[in-house]
Amino acid sequence: MATEPCDACGRSVRIAGGVANVWSFETGPSGGMTLELVDDSEHFLCFDCVERLPGDREPTREDVAAVAAEREPGGDDGGGDGE
Ligand SMILES: [Zn+2]
Repeated sequence: MATEPCDACGRSVRIAGGVANVWSFETGPSGGMTLELVDDSEHFLCFDCVERLPGDREPTREDVAAVAAEREPGGDDGGGDGE
């Protein structure tokens, strides 16, 4: 089974990257997808983070960063994430 860290929350996410993973779609919250944004950046996000992106416009890397900051455990009080 393949996993990949979510670019926003950093959790390992199961990905259906190959054959024989169809069952992963029916087993709940794990999962994610690679998004190609309008600014040509690519981000692998879990579905939980995908849902936090704005739905009324095309998300950008700033939106992904905002989700990441939001999900960062205890990371909203001064930051320090210099990525
Ligand atoms: Zn995530």
